[in-house]
Amino acid sequence: MQSPSIAVEAKNITKVFGHGKQHFRALNDVSVSIRENEFFTLLGPSGCGKTTLLRMFAGFEHPTQGAILLHGKDIAHLPPFQRPINTVFQNYALFPHMTVAKNIAFGLEMLGKPKAEIEETVDRMLDLVQMQAMRDRVTSQISGGQQQRVALARALAPSPKVLLLDEPLSALDYKLRKEMQIELKRLQHETGITFIFVTHDQEEALTMSDRIAVMSGGRILQVGSPHDIYERPAERFVADFIGETNFLEGKVSVLEEGDRLSVTLDAGTEGKQIQVAFDPQNSPETVQAGQRITLTVRPEHAQVFPIGSTSDDPIISGKLENIVYFGTDTHYHVKLSDNSIFIVRQQNSQIRGDVLVQNEMVNIHFSMDSARTLWD
Ligand code: ATP
Repeated sequence: MQSPSIAVEAKNITKVFGHGKQHFRALNDVSVSIRENEFFTLLGPSGCGKTTLLRMFAGFEHPTQGAILLHGKDIAHLPPFQRPINTVFQNYALFPHMTVAKNIAFGLEMLGKPKAEIEETVDRMLDLVQMQAMRDRVTSQISGGQQQRVALARALAPSPKVLLLDEPLSALDYKLRKEMQIELKRLQHETGITFIFVTHDQEEALTMSDRIAVMSGGRILQVGSPHDIYERPAERFVADFIGETNFLEGKVSVLEEGDRLSVTLDAGTEGKQIQVAFDPQNSPETVQAGQRITLTVRPEHAQVFPIGSTSDDPIISGKLENIVYFGTDTHYHVKLSDNSIFIVRQQNSQIRGDVLVQNEMVNIHFSMDSARTLWD
């Protein structure tokens, strides 16, 4: 199979702001390859360096070390306006007294495009973002969601190779944000342009992206599809930042033949060993008995049963402290012997049989394969 072509590449990028004692390393040896025609998201908490990296793709910021490549060519010497890359900013940056159509035409006029071509493109862009009816309104008199569409149309009009989007939905209310998430994905699909999207909202990243880079402290910790990132987090930070999860601390007892690992947990099993799947790709080179290990189990991958239940899969037990009803599902908060809380989330449509009583001891089952192993 031919490997997909790379649109943009960051190679060993380090960015230091300031000098001497005041210096701050915003990016630390970051490398990432973004494919043509993909919806790629930089995801991480505030201050992790995602905007700095995006600004480097745009040319508003320059690396202290490393290179930015576009289709394999170093673009360090190209100023922002000469890059086939456009940006949609958080605050849209529209001209408030110009009409919708004029805002979209502006960049094309600056590029000196012929009038007929500009008119045709503006028309096509208005169709694309479904704003034909508003074409003659000034942008100060349209809603936030409509301004967002105009900003997108303006950025897409010159047919950039890459569109950079810096938290473009954060100013919108919840319902509009959900609508625009679907809209953005449609636009990316229809135009075939590479989108590089910055957000700190993990749900937004999961629902929109082809691939996600999870960032923390100026580094990229993991790059993968939403499914990979959620189901196979490579590090504790990733597991914790994306969705809810439970951590179980323990140590390795025995590395079994094949793909099983026996683990003794610090809490929940009264010293009994449990067996989990061993993932050599996500493990240190040597694994020995006594080595510390963390298991991470998503709340929806576990079930609660009355004490005494049996299974071939791992079972831990604790006290059912809280039952929280959410309509579609119910959350069970189970306190383990080290006082940590293990959360189980079960769909109400799938809960059958025994009624569980608050403050009683319960068993938690999870499948060996759903427990992901993390190492210090
Ligand atoms: P947010 O979601 O809050 O925008 P971010 O992940 O996009 O965060 P960046 O804006 O990339 O983070 O900033 C990364 C770090 O670099 C921050 O600690 C920030 O304070 C610092 N930083 C960014 N720009 C500068 C600058 N021009 N001078 C000094 N420090 C800067």
